[in-house]
Amino acid sequence: MTIETLRVELGERSYDIRVGSAIIGTIGAVCRDAVAGRRVAVVTNTTVGPLYAGGVADSLTAAGFNVLRIEIPDGEEHKTSATLNRVYDRLVNGGLTRDSLVVALGGGVVGDLAGYAAATYLRGIPFVQVPTTLLAQVDSSVGGKTGINHPLGKNLIGAFHQPRAVLIDVDTLATLPRREYLGGLAEVIKYGVVLDGEFFAFLEQNVSALLGRDRQTLVRAITRCCALKAWVVEQDEREAGLRAVLNYGHTFGHAVEALTGYTAVLHGEAVAIGMVRAAVLAEARGYSSAGDTRRIRALVEAVGLPTGLPSFDADSYRDVLLRDKKARDRGLDFVLNRGIGSHEIVRIENLSEVFGICGVGE
Ligand code: NAD
Ligand code: MG
Repeated sequence: MTIETLRVELGERSYDIRVGSAIIGTIGAVCRDAVAGRRVAVVTNTTVGPLYAGGVADSLTAAGFNVLRIEIPDGEEHKTSATLNRVYDRLVNGGLTRDSLVVALGGGVVGDLAGYAAATYLRGIPFVQVPTTLLAQVDSSVGGKTGINHPLGKNLIGAFHQPRAVLIDVDTLATLPRREYLGGLAEVIKYGVVLDGEFFAFLEQNVSALLGRDRQTLVRAITRCCALKAWVVEQDEREAGLRAVLNYGHTFGHAVEALTGYTAVLHGEAVAIGMVRAAVLAEARGYSSAGDTRRIRALVEAVGLPTGLPSFDADSYRDVLLRDKKARDRGLDFVLNRGIGSHEIVRIENLSEVFGICGVGE
């Protein structure tokens, strides 16, 4: 099995992403290259820890590290300042210094929180991402956005802090619950729709291998997604422009999540629904053909993701879509696909038109 290595070029903040099968045991060597110190905190959660922290700790110990294991409770509801404070306590008590390292072992919740702990502890210490969900492997572990939730909103507290390395072992996906896995596939499809038509065709041709979590197929798909995300981040590290393209499907997606209370519909499922709406809108605006829309809908359905908009009335959708003050004043910025593999960001002021096209409130 090959190991694919990609580089994210961000000047002095550049780093490598390694993608492969059975490579989690190389974490010790990866971290040895990343820092001079000998102390490392492995931050994980109560689900991922028992599965993978032992192997990670062994590899780090063999590479000469003194390992502190920190387990946080599982769940988005724990991505809070209270959990963060407990992590700081352990880092202080464990004597971690500026040349120590944090390893984030888990999904996006662990990656965001551990990354933010590393960004802020002692004004910033290095960290390495070992993402174990498909969403984290193709999205949250690359790009340096870290943070926690605030009682008044998701991800309101955070920092840009690039990892020193990202180590992606596709074998960890074998234990991921099916719904979480499919949720990650929605983000995978997103990259194809707005950035890479050839990759979209690759996904169409490999649906059963993807659903079977075939390792070689996963290495190829994840490597391509990371390369695309790296390309976007290299041009727009701090989300001033291009990075917004990654929000394809997320406008209606966020509305669906908000209306269903953030638990009934997973993020990736909401994005799948949102992508199909965006595709319909793109076609109505003349950016793409009926055939493009059919292909997008067919791929989303083929992997088993939902496409139907939950039925809430138009006013409810309007309320959540226009929650943002900027959107109320200036209109909503929608990312639309241009054919398949390209994109366009369009400002829409007349939501009623969008609702008519997308079947909101029917
Ligand atoms: P998650 O971290 O909650 O993981 C989903 C579930 O899978 C959890 O129960 C987790 O314990 C479990 N799990 C993880 N790896 C597993 C494995 N290998 N085997 C079995 N179970 C496993 O959710 P997520 O979807 O990975 O991440 C969502 C979070 O990521 C959100 O908080 C979101 O805000 C954040 N996010 C951040 C960025 C960014 O750029 N920083 C981008 C997208 C999302
Ligand atoms: Mg997303």
